[in-house]
Amino acid sequence: MEEISLNLHVHSVYSDGSGTHEEIARAACQSGLDAVIVTDHNVLVGGKEGYYTFNDRRVLLLIGEEIHDQNRQPPKNHLLVFGTNRELAPFAPDPQNLINQIKFAGGSSFIAHPVDPALPFIGEDDYSWVDWSVNGYSGIELWNGFSELKTVVDGYPSAIFYAFFPQFMAHNPLPETLKRWDALMASGKKVSAIGGSDAHALHKKLGPIRRTVFPYSYHFSSINNHLLLPEPLKGDLAYDRGVVLTALARGNSFIGYDLPLPTRGFRFSASNRKGNAIMGDEITVEDGVTLQIKLPEKADLRLLCDGQVIREWKKSTNGAMITTKSGVYRVEACLPYLGKTRGWIYSNPIYIRPNPENRRCHDD
Ligand SMILES: [Zn+2]
Ligand SMILES: [Zn+2]
Repeated sequence: MEEISLNLHVHSVYSDGSGTHEEIARAACQSGLDAVIVTDHNVLVGGKEGYYTFNDRRVLLLIGEEIHDQNRQPPKNHLLVFGTNRELAPFAPDPQNLINQIKFAGGSSFIAHPVDPALPFIGEDDYSWVDWSVNGYSGIELWNGFSELKTVVDGYPSAIFYAFFPQFMAHNPLPETLKRWDALMASGKKVSAIGGSDAHALHKKLGPIRRTVFPYSYHFSSINNHLLLPEPLKGDLAYDRGVVLTALARGNSFIGYDLPLPTRGFRFSASNRKGNAIMGDEITVEDGVTLQIKLPEKADLRLLCDGQVIREWKKSTNGAMITTKSGVYRVEACLPYLGKTRGWIYSNPIYIRPNPENRRCHDD
């Protein structure tokens, strides 16, 4: 398996971000990312996808979109859209129809910042997702860098503190979002989780000081997606785009908060007597499934089944367990950073399904 790092949910000058696509690609490249997806509000920007090279290092820049109904007040229900080649924003008033149209167009969709509280004193509304009756989307944005700010800021002094010291901001995905994710999967759905930056890199005046708050370079070294691909990227835009977006939609990935320590190298896998599964895959119980967890550094590790912690390992680089119980299994790792215990890795699940009941066991 080949692991690549991908940052997504990034706004450019085409909506309310401050950077051009070239500047975003440069920041992504300098941060050591392999790929970045720019997702402006309600506009599918053409002609910007491709490989960008800086100092002999290349980064793949893809274009997605963040769609919402602009006539809805407040404008809730934001959807991240990847892999479509045409503008679908006009379908926004009916979220289910929008999701269907994205599927017809060969794309994938993720519910953006599912829980996103208001922060009135900086003019931020509540942009949560509210239409939970929808079906057919690929997943949800489990950890959003900007939504989290709205939960840790309680006034101007703390807003200014985080603007100057963004490294203190990220703690973990919002507990309500984690609960929602587990509940959706417990209902039988496959729901892939992604981490999003919601990067805008806004130029702000803070008293006498001008400052770019939460610059792209901060986001690109923070909440990233690590995708597991069957083979290395080839440098061919059309081919690589397909491979990356397929892995993202399937959940063959984990979310890594790379600021405290690089998360590259984390693995969560399963095997039974018939074969192996990686994050995002389904596997049947058979006569037992062996789950294996590997971390690049020591951390506190939790294995969850259907949203409940079933095993814990303290300050460990490995975990393993054999199970004969079907369920949705996923892994969380946390570690201390800047005086607090913070979420470090959130795996996509491995779906262990019951054995088929009507298996043919003889051929007469
Ligand atoms: Zn949004
Ligand atoms: Zn956004």
